[in-house]
Amino acid sequence: MATNNCIFCKIANHIIPSNIIYEDDDVIAFLDASQVTVGHTLVIPKKHYENFLATPHYLISKVMIVAQRIGQILIKDFKAKGINILTNCYEAAGQSVMHFHVHVIPRYISSDGFRLEFMENQELSNLNLPAIANQIKDKI
Ligand code: AMP
Ligand code: ZN
Repeated sequence: MATNNCIFCKIANHIIPSNIIYEDDDVIAFLDASQVTVGHTLVIPKKHYENFLATPHYLISKVMIVAQRIGQILIKDFKAKGINILTNCYEAAGQSVMHFHVHVIPRYISSDGFRLEFMENQELSNLNLPAIANQIKDKI
């Protein structure tokens, strides 16, 4: 459902300006207004879906293909050393705009200020991993 108050719906409909990189009938990509690193881009479906989990497969596919292309360009032409592809789902995971978007974040040097760390939680070292795997497997 499109929402009148959604800032990304307004960008998709050219109601408010953005620095557009790519656009077709279904997808639009534009620079994030708060650049984490130079070239930090957002790729979104034009149609409003709350987040990745709510978006139909064909649009996820289209969004990811555009994200891949932009990542390739940032590596080749911006000389990025790496790329993080990130999508946040719900507030608890840091989602602030409730319209599905994929961040394409070029990484230039290890000290470029962006951190995404996977630190093993030692308190979880005794988990029953086969039981957890089965719990998810049973629902797929
Ligand atoms: P998230 O926290 O994953 O929901 O990311 C939302 C992103 O949207 C943030 O990185 C914001 O900087 C960005 N953002 C919010 N409003 C705009 C806007 N009008 N134009 C471009 N980027 C925006
Ligand atoms: Zn929207």
